[in-house]
Formats: sequence, structure tokens, C-alpha cells
Amino acid sequence: MKRSFPHVQKLEASMGLVFMNGFACKDPTLVTADDFFYSGLNKRGNTSNPVGSKVTLLNADKIPGLNTFGISMARVDFIPGGLNPPHTHPRATEILTVIQGKLFAGFVTVNPDNKFYSKVLKRGDVFVFPQGLIHFQINIGRRNAAAIVGLSSQNPGVNTIANAMFGARPEIPSFVLAKGFQTEEDIIRLMQSKF
Ligand code: MN
Repeated sequence: MKRSFPHVQKLEASMGLVFMNGFACKDPTLVTADDFFYSGLNKRGNTSNPVGSKVTLLNADKIPGLNTFGISMARVDFIPGGLNPPHTHPRATEILTVIQGKLFAGFVTVNPDNKFYSKVLKRGDVFVFPQGLIHFQINIGRRNAAAIVGLSSQNPGVNTIANAMFGARPEIPSFVLAKGFQTEEDIIRLMQSKF
């Protein structure tokens, strides 16, 4: 972990001068084994939501000992038909392994090619989603599915495309999205009503 100067940070914070991107380092003399520990990834996430999937992310927020080390992980659970919807990680490449069930997964490259790379993945199969690219996984099996992923940042970030486009607050004006998606404003308003 990086050296920190808690007394200086405290002073500056009390003066309202510190704006941190990320987490301050803990005083090394106060670090315990629990800072590098998490228990419970054997449990399924709660998939009772419109997309039928749940990401349980273990980033530096959940495991303080990940701070500054450039890695995190997650468990992703899916009901049959459940989708981890198209999203990006602005700060991480992702590597996924299926531990249960069957997934269809893919990502799309950037302009101008927008090439779609996809695979059907069964238990034990591994697939990589390069940093910043839109990707998804959907359970195409008849039973629940689950995957474990590694991410190359302690704070990968996530941007879910549909939420960002149709669920923005305040709303992106429908005429902008209608033009952008080359469709009618009625359709855009319908989409916005779902978020
Ligand atoms: Mn992802």
C-alpha cells in the first residue's frame, strides 16, 4: 500500500482542501487480516429484478486491502433467461469463468468497426472482455447460472448502457435520443418510462 500521511490528510480535510479520487490508505499499524478478507461469495446474489441477474462486486470498498493494487472480483448470478445487461467498465478488463450453467456472452469493439465477438460458455469456460468495451452475459440454460469474474482495477466502475441512455436524471431530451437511435420520440419515451 502507498505511504500515507494521516496527520497531513486530517489537517487538510479539516480545512476542506482534500478531494480524493479513491480511498485513503489506512495507517499500516492498524491493518488486520480482515482488511484482506471477505466471506460469503458462496451465496447467490438476489436476482429478483427486471433483468434476472445480480453482480456481487468485491472492490476496494468491500475489501480494503485491494486499495491501490489494481484488482477486484465479482460473482454474477443469473436465473434462466437472466441478463447481465450491456455495460462497460471504464477502468478494467474483465475475465470471466462460468462455474454453473450456460451463458451466451459477447462484447463489441469501438468505432468504426463495431465488431461483435461472442461465445456460448459452459461450466469451466473462460472469456475476456477488454477494458472499456460494451459487453453482456445472458443465461441460455434451463437452470440457474453463475460466474466468477476478475477485474483489472480495485475500482473498475460500471456504466450500464440502457440506464445511462434512458434512465438519466434529468432525462436526455427524447429528440436527442430519437435522432441518435434513428427512431421516433414515442419509442424513446416508452424506453424512458421503463427506467
Ligand atoms: Mn462486466
